Formats: sequence, C-alpha cells, structure tokens
Amino acid sequence: MVEVSAERRQNIATLIEPLRVPPGRQVDLARDFDPGYRSDLVRKKQGRELLRTGIDLLAEYQRRLAAQGTHGVLLCLQSLDAGGKDGTIRHVMSGVNPQGVHVSSFKVPSATELGHDYLWRYARALPARGDIGIFNRSHYEEVLVVRVHPEVLARQGLPPAVDDTAGDDIWDRRYREINDWERYLTDNGFAVVKLFLNLSKDEQRERFLKRVRVPERNWKFSPADVRERARWDDYQRAFSQMLSATSTSYAPWYVVPADHKWFARLCAGAVLAHTLIGIDPQYPTVSEDVRRELQSVGRELEAEAPDGSATDQHKGHHKGHPKRHPKGHHDGHHGGHHDGHHDAEAATTANGRAGTANSRGKRTRTTAARAGG
Ligand code: AMP
Ligand code: MG
Repeated sequence: MVEVSAERRQNIATLIEPLRVPPGRQVDLARDFDPGYRSDLVRKKQGRELLRTGIDLLAEYQRRLAAQGTHGVLLCLQSLDAGGKDGTIRHVMSGVNPQGVHVSSFKVPSATELGHDYLWRYARALPARGDIGIFNRSHYEEVLVVRVHPEVLARQGLPPAVDDTAGDDIWDRRYREINDWERYLTDNGFAVVKLFLNLSKDEQRERFLKRVRVPERNWKFSPADVRERARWDDYQRAFSQMLSATSTSYAPWYVVPADHKWFARLCAGAVLAHTLIGIDPQYPTVSEDVRRELQSVGRELEAEAPDGSATDQHKGHHKGHPKRHPKGHHDGHHGGHHDGHHDAEAATTANGRAGTANSRGKRTRTTAARAGG
C-alpha cells in the first residue's frame, strides 16, 4: 500500500492552497486570479514528472476507494470553451482503472431533461460509493450559460412564481439550492471537488485559432464558440459571482490557472489527490473466521499444485501481519494496518487477472445498477 509521506502531503497542500476560494470571499476573477500563474515551486519538466507520480498515487487511492465502498468523489470541471477540460480529464485520470471512473459531459439539455427540475440530469449522473464521477461541465452551467442567456432560462418551463422573481433573486436561490445539494452529498459520503479552469482571453484566442487552422482540430470548433466569446465579460461576471456564492467549507472552489496546460493538469491532479488523501480509504479487513477459512482454502489449493512446481508463490505474503515483513523488503511500501500490502497486490491483480471477491462483487453491482438505470 502506498503511504503518502507527510512531506508529500504538505507539498500537495501548499501547491493548491493559493487556488482555493475562501468561503464567503467576494471574488473578482480579473483582480484575484491570474490565468498565467505558475507556482515558484515547480518548473515544467519537473511538473510533468510530478504529474506522472501523482497519477500513480491517484490510481492507488482509487483502488482503495473502490474496495472500501463507503465514499464517492464527484469532480466538477467548469471552464469556458478551450479551457482544457477534456485534456485535463484525459491526463489526470490516465492511470486510473476505467471501471471506477465515470465521465458525464453536459450539453444543451434535451426535451426530456427540460421536462424535469434543473438538477435532475446531474443527480442521475452522480457517482456511486467507491466511484469517481467526473462532470465535464456540471450543474454550475445552470448559473452560467443559463444566466448569460435568458432565453435558455425561458425554455426551462419554470412556474411563474419562480420564473418571474424580480431581479437577481433566482440566481441567489439557485446558489442556495446548489449549496444545499452539495451539503447533502458531502454529509452522505460524497466529496464534491470543484475546479474552475481559468483561461485568459488571449489564450482562448490562440486555442480557437488552432482549432480553425489545424484540420484535425476543426471538429472541436463551432461558430457558436465565437458567439460565446463575444460575451466574455458577462461570463467573467457570472463566474465571479458563482465562485463567491458557492465556495463553501464543505465544497470549496479551486481556481486553476489554465493558460499553461501542464500546470493546470498538475493542479487538477493535486486537488483530487488532496481530496482522496483526506478521505483516506482503506482496504477492508476480513474477520478471524473468514481469515481461517481463507487459510484452509489456501491449503487445499496448495495440495492441488502439479508435481514439481512451487506450491504457493505468494506464501510469504499470506503469513502473519504485514508489520512483521522484513524491513527493506518492500521498497517504497509500508505494511500499514489492515493487511494493506497484501490486499493492494490482490487488487492490482484484479485489474489484470483473477480479481478478489471484494473488488469483483462491487464492480459487478455498480455495472448492473448503471445498466438498469
Ligand atoms: P461542449 O462542452 O463544447 O461540448 O459544449 C457544450 C455546450 O452545451 C456548451 O455550449 C454549453 O454552454 C452548453 N450547455 C451545457 N449545459 C447547458 C445548460 N444547462 N443549458 C444550456 N446549455 C448548456
Ligand atoms: Mg466546446
């Protein structure tokens, strides 16, 4: 089991600290956050390497999250077009078992979706316990694009009492409803991680231009993107108010500087790692009875070994408590509590080969639930 050293934990916390929006703070994006910011602590080459080791860390934590099956994580990604949401997901989640991660992309709502309350489609896509759910755009569009374009709100079919509320009250109410919803989720074991990829107007221009000029990128570009760009200031205002109203102690916003992709990805990985370290999921342990049963099964399997072959290559790992493993035997690993090292290996094996009852059963249930819903 990978144990994160206190120093590494501290480095992660230090890296993301300046990005967190303190609850209650009135944010003015242009004044408070620089899209071109990079930490003095890391340079590009080193940053790429850090992200690689961070990806391994996330993979291990995701295995533990899935094995424990108590907590889920919801990662919400918001940004303007070309902010780097897709690339961030691709890079940060590249080491994680695909069975434990579900990405949901939210587009213009369908007629069916418009027939429901505005949080409905997001609630349907929430992660199960043990899963990491990623929202590529999220319920926050309901106070962003919907706010910038009143005609989108008009299509939502709200009753007059809600629709006709004077002035900005509808947005204050939505902020409150979203905060309440996230409070409910965190209270029930689901961490809500919110990243705003903060892009500068000029960097967006560059990235759009690339999408226009490079044929392989053309598909990513739509003329509507330019129309949205024309509303830049309105979006900046909507983002600022959203960040001010919905960064809470239980689900704070992180404003990730997005002009340098490598730094944005490093930060996104660091915030997610910080969350998982905070949850600290553990592999489940088995009762004494089950342990005895496993030992007896182990003896039977040994007896079945073909003549001349080793009876059990794993024997050393099965005996005794991991704390009794000779020091230096496991480079970079510590036999933590809960028989961690042994179970970490079992879970790793589950990805490639046989699998443990635990991860197997859990995954199957998840898949079945999803297929049914
Ligand atoms: P993309 O992420 O580039 O595939 O674009 C998705 C589009 O869907 C964007 O233009 C969003 O503004 C739009 N969109 C996402 N959520 C909503 C929503 N709740 N209401 C209206 N439009 C939305
Ligand atoms: Mg787009």
